[in-house]
Amino acid sequence: MIALALVALQIAAATPGRAATARDRVTPREPVVAAVKHPRLEGPERTVVVDAGHGGVDNGMSGPIGSANPIHEKDVTLAVALKVGRALEARGVNVVYTRTTDTLINLYDRGPIANRAHGDLFISIHVNAANPRWKDARAARGFETYFLSEAKTEDARRVEAMENSAARYDTGDPVSKGDALSYILSDMQQNEHLRESMKLADDIQQDLGSVEPGPDRGVQQAAFVVLETAFMPAVLVEIGFGTNPQDAAFITSPRDQNRIAGAIADAAVGYLNTYWAGVSGVADRVNGGKP
Ligand SMILES: [Zn+2]
Repeated sequence: MIALALVALQIAAATPGRAATARDRVTPREPVVAAVKHPRLEGPERTVVVDAGHGGVDNGMSGPIGSANPIHEKDVTLAVALKVGRALEARGVNVVYTRTTDTLINLYDRGPIANRAHGDLFISIHVNAANPRWKDARAARGFETYFLSEAKTEDARRVEAMENSAARYDTGDPVSKGDALSYILSDMQQNEHLRESMKLADDIQQDLGSVEPGPDRGVQQAAFVVLETAFMPAVLVEIGFGTNPQDAAFITSPRDQNRIAGAIADAAVGYLNTYWAGVSGVADRVNGGKP
């Protein structure tokens, strides 16, 4: 089915540009990581929506495996999301958060928050968890960045199911819960977002590679609810495995959280600065270049 989508997106017309507005930048502030280049936003005003996964009664994953004092995904994602936001603001970007405190935001409400804010990009921050049935689950580690599409691998389906299961905490009247693939295949603009999301995911994954201890698990695709409802280029970043002691230490260290945030912000701003440039070649690198 993704082949259909890819064919469709190849003929999708370019997204019409938004009117440029003059922007008086009152930053810059302290760079997050002094040794790394920090592109400033060029061109028109942009808004990035930063989504801290889970929250409130939804802890997300907990780890590391066997730990007496487990970390909770919701706390890590909030800390990192706030740092991503600050790093983006320091680079001249408007930031909107889906949450800034330990509170539950319905999974199906997160995209609409981004839509109402007229976000240009949507970045959802999450922490991965190994399947406890894996042979050496505690050893699994690494970072990966997803865009919205049909999951193509067993591992992507695992992450998709894990993250989408947060919908069980949703309260109140749900908004439309359409099939993710129907969005992708039925609408040319969504196809354009798919292509742009692939590029954004690729940029983020590359920049994360300069700060993450690894391994680089690559750009992946899965049908995440949280991405399905955001009508803009949208990605979900699994910054590491909370089930692994080394990854857990990395993603909970404030210093390393700043490095993660700086890398994501650099990638997002770099992406925005070349938003209208061609994105050919990205598809070839998705899923390790396999057709
Ligand atoms: Zn998550």
